Amino acid sequence: MNDVADKELAERARKLFAGPVHFLKSAPGLNFLPDSTAPEIAFAGRSNVGKSSLLNALTNRNGLARTSNTPGRTQELNFFDVGEPVKLRLVDMPGYGFAEAPQDLVRRWRHLVNDYLRGRSALKRALVLVDSRHGLKDVDREMMRMLDDAAVSYHLVLTKSDKVKPSALGALYEATIVDAAKHLAAHPSIFTTSSETGSGIAELRTAILEAATA
Ligand code: GDP
Repeated sequence: MNDVADKELAERARKLFAGPVHFLKSAPGLNFLPDSTAPEIAFAGRSNVGKSSLLNALTNRNGLARTSNTPGRTQELNFFDVGEPVKLRLVDMPGYGFAEAPQDLVRRWRHLVNDYLRGRSALKRALVLVDSRHGLKDVDREMMRMLDDAAVSYHLVLTKSDKVKPSALGALYEATIVDAAKHLAAHPSIFTTSSETGSGIAELRTAILEAATA
C-alpha cells in the first residue's frame, strides 16, 4: 500500500471507531452466537492483560467492556458492533491463565474458544494481547498454537507499554518478533499499545479495519 492509501485507511479507521459502537450480545456457547453478518476481530489474552481497557481505548468509551475478569465469572464471548450499519464486530474472548483455575473451568474455556475459532468463517483475525512487563508465557504460546491449528491469522499486541522503559520495550519487541516467526498463523506485524497514554491505539484501529476489509 502506498502512503496516500495508508493515510486514507487510517482516517477511515479513526472515523469508524469514533462513530457508533454497541454491545450486541454475550454468547456462553456456540448456539448463542450472532448471525455472521459482519467480519469479526477477536481479542484474546491472559486475565489482567488489559483487554477490557484496550477495547475501551479503541472505541473511546469508558464502560464498553467491563474490566477485571474474575476466575469464577461466566465464560462467554462478548460481541460489539462497530459502525452503523455494522462494519465490523469486536469479539472479547474470555481471559485465560488465571492462577489456580479449576480444571473444569479451563476445559470449558478451551472448548468454547476452540469451537468458535474453528467454526467461524466471519472471523478475520485475532489479537493476542501480551503484557509488556511479562512477555509471552506458556499459556500465550498455547493460545497461539490453538490459532495456528485453527488457521486464524493473528497479531501479537504488547499492552501496557507505558509500564516499561523504552529500552526494555525495544528488547521485548525484538524477542517477540522472533517468537512470532515460529508460528504459522502469527502475522509479522506486532503492535505495542498503552490504553493509559493512547500510544499505538490509532495504528491498531487501522490494522483492525484493514483485517476486516481484506
Ligand atoms: P483484562 O482483565 O484483560 O480485561 O484487564 P483490564 O483491562 O481490566 O486491566 C487490568 C489492570 O491493568 C487494570 O488495573 C487496568 O487499569 C490496568 N491497565 C490496563 N491497560 C493499561 C495500560 O495500558 N497502562 C497501564 N498503566 N495500566 C493498564
